[in-house]
Amino acid sequence: MSQANYHAPMAPANSSSTTAFDIDKLRVKPGEKVDLSKVDTRSTPSWDGDDKDEGKARLVDLNGKMEQLQELLWANGKERVLLVLQAMDAGGKDGTVRHVFEGVNPSGVRVASFKKPSSKELSHDYLWRIHRQVPGDGELVIFNRSHYEDVLIVRVEELVPQSRWSKRYDHIVNFEQMLADEGTTIVKIFLHISKSEQQERLQARLDEPEKNWKFDAGDLGPRAKWDDYQKAFEELLQKTSTKDAPWFIVPADRKWYRNIAVSEIMIQTLRGLNMSYPEADFNPADIVIPD
Ligand code: ATP
Ligand code: MG
Repeated sequence: MSQANYHAPMAPANSSSTTAFDIDKLRVKPGEKVDLSKVDTRSTPSWDGDDKDEGKARLVDLNGKMEQLQELLWANGKERVLLVLQAMDAGGKDGTVRHVFEGVNPSGVRVASFKKPSSKELSHDYLWRIHRQVPGDGELVIFNRSHYEDVLIVRVEELVPQSRWSKRYDHIVNFEQMLADEGTTIVKIFLHISKSEQQERLQARLDEPEKNWKFDAGDLGPRAKWDDYQKAFEELLQKTSTKDAPWFIVPADRKWYRNIAVSEIMIQTLRGLNMSYPEADFNPADIVIPD
């Protein structure tokens, strides 16, 4: 592929499609009120294809584009890209990483998963462990869970008092703005599933022996507090979606749509960076490789 292709920021994603996928339909505008109950988790905004098979075919095409753009990111070596993924349990974070980044060069891509903090992590401020994992030049880092847990589970389970967690929205906006100002491109995606879809996915982990390892009885706790979590998500989406660190809400009951939507968001973001391959500081024609 010629470099010119990378410079067309909103080029149609696929030759079989006539209209570009409009990621703005999924974007949370700064300050916008969010009501998750109004977002249909089975909907497929901006998808103009017919069915699941067509969706899967599109993903193959998008995977190829992602591979090329990630190579360019790595070769260019000047941009830093951070993708934050959040969802309820069984929301599809792992599957998204697997499908959307299939084929990329692992040298330039890193997944950072944030679990329950260790005692060492707890002995620092909540952003300490996060800051250590942000991308460096040429890197694409995916946060599987993130500092947003500190206004999700921490809030719902009251792991710290409200007087502490309520201040964190401002900290987070400022922290992300600092990262953006210093050259990090940030994209945040909430994979939105329904409570019944979660039930089906958790049940499948019990019914299918090869999925038993994924079952965690601990996931039933947050499930029992579904509405509290949705409220916590709504508040963070509303308070922390900014121009430089926007949130996207991706309806995620249909996995094939979820994969396409996340791919499109990442590909369009990477294209927007207008990167190019570094120019040689020598004339290749002058060099003869000896026999
Ligand atoms: P998987 O289940 O697919 O392996 P996971 O992300 O669910 O992935 P788990 O180890 O099951 O990983 O769960 C991580 C748990 O850690 C979640 O319940 C999450 O809410 C919790 N957690 C993450 N960050 C924090 C935090 N800052 N404070 C408290 N709990 C946290
Ligand atoms: Mg889990």
